[in-house]
Amino acid sequence: MRELETDVAIIGAGSAGLNARREVERAGKHWLLIEGGAYGTGCARTGCMPSKLLIAAANAARSARRAELFGVRIAASDIRIDGRAVLERVRRERDRFVQLVNAAVEALPREQRLHGYARFVSANTLDVGGHTRVHAKAVVIASGSRPVVPALLQPLGAALLTSDNLFELPDLPESVAVFGSGAIGLELGQALHALGTRVTFFNPNDVLGPFSDPLLSERFRALLASEFDLRLGVTGLDVQVQPDGVLVRHRDRAGREQQSRFARVLAAVGREPASAALNLAASGLALDARGLPSCDPRSMQCADAPIFLAGDAVGERALLHEAVDEGCLAGANAARFPQLQSIVRRVPLLIAFSQPQLAMLGASFREAAQSDCVIGHSSYDDQGRARVQAENHGEVRVYVDRASTRLLGAELYGPEVEHTAHLLAWMVQAKLPLSEVLHMPVYHPTLEEGIRSALRDAGSQLGLLRGCAPPDRGEGPGS
Ligand SMILES: Cc1cc2nc3c(=O)[nH]c(=O)nc-3n(C[C@H](O)[C@H](O)[C@H](O)COP(=O)(O)OP(=O)(O)OC[C@H]3O[C@@H](n4cnc5c(N)ncnc54)[C@H](O)[C@@H]3O)c2cc1C
Repeated sequence: MRELETDVAIIGAGSAGLNARREVERAGKHWLLIEGGAYGTGCARTGCMPSKLLIAAANAARSARRAELFGVRIAASDIRIDGRAVLERVRRERDRFVQLVNAAVEALPREQRLHGYARFVSANTLDVGGHTRVHAKAVVIASGSRPVVPALLQPLGAALLTSDNLFELPDLPESVAVFGSGAIGLELGQALHALGTRVTFFNPNDVLGPFSDPLLSERFRALLASEFDLRLGVTGLDVQVQPDGVLVRHRDRAGREQQSRFARVLAAVGREPASAALNLAASGLALDARGLPSCDPRSMQCADAPIFLAGDAVGERALLHEAVDEGCLAGANAARFPQLQSIVRRVPLLIAFSQPQLAMLGASFREAAQSDCVIGHSSYDDQGRARVQAENHGEVRVYVDRASTRLLGAELYGPEVEHTAHLLAWMVQAKLPLSEVLHMPVYHPTLEEGIRSALRDAGSQLGLLRGCAPPDRGEGPGS
């Protein structure tokens, strides 16, 4: 067995691990980058990028179907989805992204890249693939996550889809039962539906989407129920593999037995840190009931050990921008251990590219409701630009601290909220008082007017509106 020494061993060459490596290098310390699987990152290979490529195809199909609304005549029979071509483009573009990452990794010194799965032998020693023993002054665990497959679905074999194998299908499936209705389930299920796959969402929990605000939860669900077969809050879920697919049985909320047949089942019930192979028990860290260590989110350090967590391996904010931030922080602190830097994290921001898009940022309703806050509300039903685009479905709820009048957070769904959510997140992070926010320019007619209406609603409840608008600003139609 080969023996190697290093300042920092990094487990996982995903987005978190690669950013950790860069920071160690920047600090002038020696690193070893350990990867058990293929290079290319989860984001590019199975996550953000292929899912958005599939959604881009779905949006093209939706636009073609909606063209008639605007007087653009395309006969429905002329719209044909070529599933093979859709998935070929997804893979072609996905492979381009993967290749860009691969090229950057391959450019790193070969002797500092180890191939094989790492497992702890002690707090400072790792076994890599049974061929190398690494002695490190500090370790960054950036081993990512994997889809949770509930025991019920495990016997499905080839009929089981997750985000790991969905994009490898040669053709779009005729029908899919989506288990789970969180951000990933909604994104993939809605995209497949728009591309002609018959989709039914199943969830034993009576929830749809990630909202904590009950009003948004209820309205978002009512909106989707008008288009989708939603089986939420069902009991007795059972699946059976049959020659022509999978039979899904359940009892509906009235207790009636139901059954339907699907070509495939998509497990989208969440993700869990990929920690099983790490032998964390040997690291000396205290582990929780899931077998995971915890870390300080301001330094990424686990207890007072020279071990740092980053990215999906943390099991908290499983998002790309968080993985990048955490990788940088973990790498920098591993390099300077034991003199750590502690940072204030960015405002949380989650966007799901569902239809319509949804977002949560800053304090959620559940968190904001713990303090004395006012809730500003607006709807996109009659919002000018949303109606122009025939996308007038959505709600915005902003939570404003009564004493400081600062925006604490927001939950929203509606047209292109991927953009408006950023504005709101930046306002929260800048800790701007509402009176200042309400003085910001807003162009007409734009979707940004939709969030301004919610902010103005909160402002009016706080008595901030009088005299706060510049005198030359009028209100446009439907703003
Ligand atoms: C379908 C889907 C859509 C998504 N969409 C978005 C989105 O739109 N926006 C967004 O912000 N986020 C999105 N995400 C989440 C985002 O992709 C992840 O948060 C991010 O990629 C996590 O990066 P990471 O570095 O933690 O993990 P990864 O990039 O997965 O890297 C972990 C690496 O560790 C390796 N590894 C694991 N165990 C070991 C071991 N023992 N030894 C050696 N190597 C090991 C793995 O092989 C892997 O290469 C999506 C995820 C999915 C699944």
